[in-house]
Amino acid sequence: MFLGDGMSVPTLAAARTLLGQNQGRTGEESQLSFEDFPTVGLAKTYCVNEQIPDSACTATAYLCGVKNNHGTIGVTAAVPRRDCAASLDESTHLASIAEWALRDDRDVGIVTTTRITHASPAGTYAKVANRRWENDDRVVEDGQDPTICRDIAHQLVHMYPANQFKVILGGGRREFRPNTTRDEENTRGRRTDGRDIIEEWQQLRAAQNVSYNYVWNREQLMNISESLPEYLLGLFEGSHMQYHLEANTTMEPTLTELTEIAIRSLSRNENGFFLFVESGRIDHAHHDNYVHLALDETLHLHAAVQRATELLSEEDSLVVVTADHAHVMAFNGYSPRGSSIIGRSNELGDDGVPYMTISYTNGPGARAQVDGVRVDVTNDSDIGSIWWRSHAEVPLEDETHGGDDVAVFARGPHHALFTGLYEQSRIPHLMGYAACIGPGLHYCSAAARSHAHLATIVVLTLVYLLNYSRMLK
Ligand SMILES: [Zn+2]
Repeated sequence: MFLGDGMSVPTLAAARTLLGQNQGRTGEESQLSFEDFPTVGLAKTYCVNEQIPDSACTATAYLCGVKNNHGTIGVTAAVPRRDCAASLDESTHLASIAEWALRDDRDVGIVTTTRITHASPAGTYAKVANRRWENDDRVVEDGQDPTICRDIAHQLVHMYPANQFKVILGGGRREFRPNTTRDEENTRGRRTDGRDIIEEWQQLRAAQNVSYNYVWNREQLMNISESLPEYLLGLFEGSHMQYHLEANTTMEPTLTELTEIAIRSLSRNENGFFLFVESGRIDHAHHDNYVHLALDETLHLHAAVQRATELLSEEDSLVVVTADHAHVMAFNGYSPRGSSIIGRSNELGDDGVPYMTISYTNGPGARAQVDGVRVDVTNDSDIGSIWWRSHAEVPLEDETHGGDDVAVFARGPHHALFTGLYEQSRIPHLMGYAACIGPGLHYCSAAARSHAHLATIVVLTLVYLLNYSRMLK
């Protein structure tokens, strides 16, 4: 499963245009790798208590198959946000499709460009009343006891199902390290319990007597890529991984490289695997109105999916690509074919001032009018820089998510199940059905078994009748 965090439908249209323009073409006619998958559907993203969702309740929907409250992960809507006590009731705990896979002897991996404890990847393993509880200090900040309500980093290393994950690749070392220490790249840890949970992960593997590696930069990752260990933990940044356009490519692997290593590692299990891959920073760039970065991060998801489809047979591997929620980026105006997707519209507003082909309904890119006139952003000194903010209408420190539906693309066994318009929480049930794992497993395997049984009975009966007819002769 591939997720573009915040990858709205207009983001797809703009990103494919940028892809073509990067290749010297007009652009609009381009296709992202997953846009030619045979099945496309739409998912409704609202959560139980909010019209426009966040990445925590949506992760619970598309990974656990149940909608819940904004800001909560892996627990039902019976748990209000920050309610530690309510989240201790095991009847509120949800199993993700990663857990369904493990219970069927498949392997699991998670890959992201955000902190590995961030909401989307945490949806595969965490059961938590607040997505912000990434380390013990954040639990304390909310007045809760971190030895009772465990933080997400602790859950990743010490609790089921993540303590069984074979591949864990992303950012976020600071959530695992004491605040008295600085990590490999000088980021200060965030934990106040004095524990180094990366070290503990390695000790656990050593005690299991299995092969394992912890790596924190691209070179180390490439050095083990020919002889991958049974368990792999890679944390490449103190916090989120850098945007690809700003990343130091000798230190940080690309999403495509991470995806390839994860697939090669997990493919060693003959029973199969569940892999979750997130391009998580499309969302962050949108929140900052950094449109070039948002589109570029989308192109890295495109590249990672491309590589995955080269490595995985369409005969036996279901690949699903979707987004958790939309954003309020608008792709607007009437510019001629081939106009720069990150450039200005060829038209002026009724006020005589130019506007851009892409703008946002809200966010930090809002410019106050000067003498009652809208600012001409095409005169900005930093226009063209990746850090230039697109224009936004409503001033907000953080651009918001959108409430629109998101696209779901599917390729491989049972891909046609993903057609239509449905609740986002249906997605893991469809994947589970296709893979014969999860709550549908009994039905699925029982049906398969009874069919096999029926076939055996039919064959034996035919053999008997054949022999009986011979005897009569
Ligand atoms: Zn967001």
